[in-house]
Amino acid sequence: MTKYNTLLYYCYATIADGEQFAADHLKFCKSLGLTGRIIVADEGLNGTVSGSAESCETYMNTLHSDERFAGIDFKIDEVAEPSFVKMHCRYKSEIVHSGLRDPNMINPQLKTGKHLEPKDFLAMKDRDDVVILDVRSNYEHSLGKFKNAVTLDIENFRDFPAMINELAQYKDKKILTYCTGGIKCEKASALLLHEGFSDVYQLHGGIIKYGKEAGGEDFEGKCYVFDNRLSVDVNSVNPVIISTCRNCGKTTPKMINCANPECNEHFTQCDDCGAQLEGCCSDVCQAHPRKRAYDGTGYYVKAPQPVNTAKKGEKLQLAAE
Ligand SMILES: [Zn+2]
Ligand SMILES: [Zn+2]
Repeated sequence: MTKYNTLLYYCYATIADGEQFAADHLKFCKSLGLTGRIIVADEGLNGTVSGSAESCETYMNTLHSDERFAGIDFKIDEVAEPSFVKMHCRYKSEIVHSGLRDPNMINPQLKTGKHLEPKDFLAMKDRDDVVILDVRSNYEHSLGKFKNAVTLDIENFRDFPAMINELAQYKDKKILTYCTGGIKCEKASALLLHEGFSDVYQLHGGIIKYGKEAGGEDFEGKCYVFDNRLSVDVNSVNPVIISTCRNCGKTTPKMINCANPECNEHFTQCDDCGAQLEGCCSDVCQAHPRKRAYDGTGYYVKAPQPVNTAKKGEKLQLAAE
């Protein structure tokens, strides 16, 4: 039986001709039979790819042999089948959409929060002088977050910079930021430093690595991921479910996309309501003429933007955010 892996990674590194790099890299990924999504920008790479264990190995070795990418910390998951259907590799202005594009102001290669390995994060997080800050969006932290974490009411990471004022009350504390795989924290913590916060740390490798290396202790709920798994378990030490069904309020860990392609909102729904509403968030969406067939997973291959507030012209949600 073929063994499959799904890799998640990012890297801030200067890429001189990003557009050409993206085209070449797409060819390379296809030659290995990989599927997934990769964002290429002048500031680096952000990707998640899936394929046979052998292809994934070749992929990682090839990137590591390039000195720009030698330090990439791949998060490797064994999966029963590839996590994507197609292979995309796109050139964009940033590897994660934050709006913080000026490398003279925010440049994680030069200045960012101190990286904490999962065990160090675990040891520090409950101290009185520490604030744990979740830099992810509503649909992510509503599914799962660290116990006692400060969360922000944002639909997208690009709204993070506007929330800085809300955090001013924590200026004298040690701030520990975290996100799914670590990429958002590189810029979020850099911005906090830029805004005068003095003691800023970030969870290196994000929730995913924390689950693997620290047992996920005190992470409550599940972790939203940007592939057909939609969410993964993190906590093998003291797991709880914190999310509730949007429709009936019952506790459920199940995250789906609304079956109405024009809505496509990420939300939690129990199986009973899923059956009744055919995977839609509401009666209105259930009555939509282009409603997609619900197969119980709530994952659709040609998913447009995750939330209905998405702007026109934007492509796929980023891979390894
Ligand atoms: Zn329900
Ligand atoms: Zn809907």
